[in-house]
Amino acid sequence: MRGSRCGHSGGPHRRPGSADGYNCNMPEAMEIRPSQAVRGILFDMDGVVYNDDRPIAGALETVEWVQSHGIPHLFLTNTTSKCCAALSEKLLSLGIRAAETEILTPAAAAAEWLRTAHEGQIALFVRQSARREFAGLPCLPDDAEHGAAYVVVGDLGDLWDYRTLNRAFRLLHSNPEARLIALGMTRYWLAADGLSLDVAPFVAALEHASGRDALVFGKPAARFFLTGADRLGLHGSAVLMIGDDIDADVGGAQAAGLKGALVRTGKFHPRDLERAIRPDAIFDSIADLPSWWNRP
Ligand SMILES: [Mg+2]
Repeated sequence: MRGSRCGHSGGPHRRPGSADGYNCNMPEAMEIRPSQAVRGILFDMDGVVYNDDRPIAGALETVEWVQSHGIPHLFLTNTTSKCCAALSEKLLSLGIRAAETEILTPAAAAAEWLRTAHEGQIALFVRQSARREFAGLPCLPDDAEHGAAYVVVGDLGDLWDYRTLNRAFRLLHSNPEARLIALGMTRYWLAADGLSLDVAPFVAALEHASGRDALVFGKPAARFFLTGADRLGLHGSAVLMIGDDIDADVGGAQAAGLKGALVRTGKFHPRDLERAIRPDAIFDSIADLPSWWNRP
């Protein structure tokens, strides 16, 4: 984390109709007092910091505010299309400085788990750019149909086709002991051309066909949020997850014992507020964070 620089107060943006940035008229949000309850932040990336390759208004200033105040934070994303180094470069291209170690992806978390006393061949169904996280691990060739102890499935996007999905099924079917590892269970995301299937529908198909449950790395699995809190050196209850996915971000974080804030950007839809999940805070955008944080 970067050092604290005193002298700031309040946020970079104030929003019409929400003078203090805190949406106090939202009965759906629970009341927590940030200065007492929250000491660290996990930022979702897609839909919170940026949409596709465009930064969300106020995101740069807000992250800079967090960094300048020395508030422990990580970028926690279910993205499996890029490695942490590529995500760090993407953030830098948007004007945000974040080291690889300040970014946690399902691929990085799964690779770390596989390196820790887990033996056997690995079949990867992840984009080329995400393979970097698995460097040094025993990975099967891309045409293998048997021999895997672990079948790792991430978001392949347009690279999914019947043959590829069926190969993952054959790998699982040929070894009843093989573990299906899901890099997140996000159902869909907002791509440049509209909402798009993420990893969960493909994992669900493989679970259904193989008759076994996936071991999930990434949101909404509790182990992923708690890994993030551990990296910050904080108890989960002192960490706020900020995301645009009411299920994977807010619900997942709350189920793991963290706080969850929902932003009205990215994939947010007003119907999200009709759900049983009640965010601890609701922001019009990430730009509302500093004023919420400073709320007495
Ligand atoms: Mg998101």
